[in-house]
Amino acid sequence: MLDLTGKKAFVTGIANDLSIAWGIAQQLHQAGAEIGVNYLPDEKGRFEKKVRELVEPLNPTVFVPCNVQDDAQVDAVFETIKEKWGKLDILVHCLAFASKEDLSGDFSSTSRAGFTTALEISTYSLTRLASAAKPLMSEGGSIVTLTYLGGVKVIPNYNVMGVAKSALEMSVRYLASELGSNNIRVNAISAGPIRTLASSAVGGIRKMIRHVEEVAPLRRTVTQTEVGNAAAFLCSDLASGITGQVLYVDAGYEIMGM
Ligand code: NAD
Repeated sequence: MLDLTGKKAFVTGIANDLSIAWGIAQQLHQAGAEIGVNYLPDEKGRFEKKVRELVEPLNPTVFVPCNVQDDAQVDAVFETIKEKWGKLDILVHCLAFASKEDLSGDFSSTSRAGFTTALEISTYSLTRLASAAKPLMSEGGSIVTLTYLGGVKVIPNYNVMGVAKSALEMSVRYLASELGSNNIRVNAISAGPIRTLASSAVGGIRKMIRHVEEVAPLRRTVTQTEVGNAAAFLCSDLASGITGQVLYVDAGYEIMGM
């Protein structure tokens, strides 16, 4: 049985009720985990208010600001987790960013700044968070990140985010190899296209979803809840033998050649 009772789970990347991270947090909570979340701080505090109201039904016992570009904020997150929980069992990395102009048009036009920002936020942050989580996962743990097929195959307009996801998937393997001796498992879920705040910045996202609905074996794309269920599985003891893997939760689209 999938049971996360007694597990402490920190979920990053909730922006609103369409966020994949929200689907994951709900499924982890339903399986019995105690939940902590972050919000991306902004000057007007809009994300904080929105995320606070949204997650209230999950009774989060950790609720902290974190912009992953700021080392002090990342360190403060894990200090808070140490104080409140004393340990961490589950870390969900569910965040990414690239500027809108780098998510359409020619890949060769990607600016140095756009490339650096996309890889810093979308890729390096996994390693930074995993490093900070490691000492708190003294009883072992599970780290899950979110990737997309565009990190393996060319998807129109995905551009620099494809490069970021490719590096993210390789980071999963290096982290899994290193952290395995601490009984910390590291895996990725490659989700099918879902309408969210982040995906709406990718040029032609509606067309991508329609294409998947026509071609995928299940003739549809996936939901945040389905991704959440897969994440709950990967974070549970049912997946105790699985690490370093990319699990496709995409209605089967990835297997199709034509
Ligand atoms: P989303 O917009 O709901 O989530 C993206 C999150 O990233 C937001 O919560 C945002 O606050 C956070 N973020 C951005 N910059 C940040 C920073 N500097 N510090 C901390 N947080 C920051 O969109 P989503 O689609 O749910 O994206 C979640 C993850 O799923 C991403 O890694 C995305 O690439 C991946 N993914 C999405 C799809 C899809 O079709 N939506 C498919 C496969 C993978």
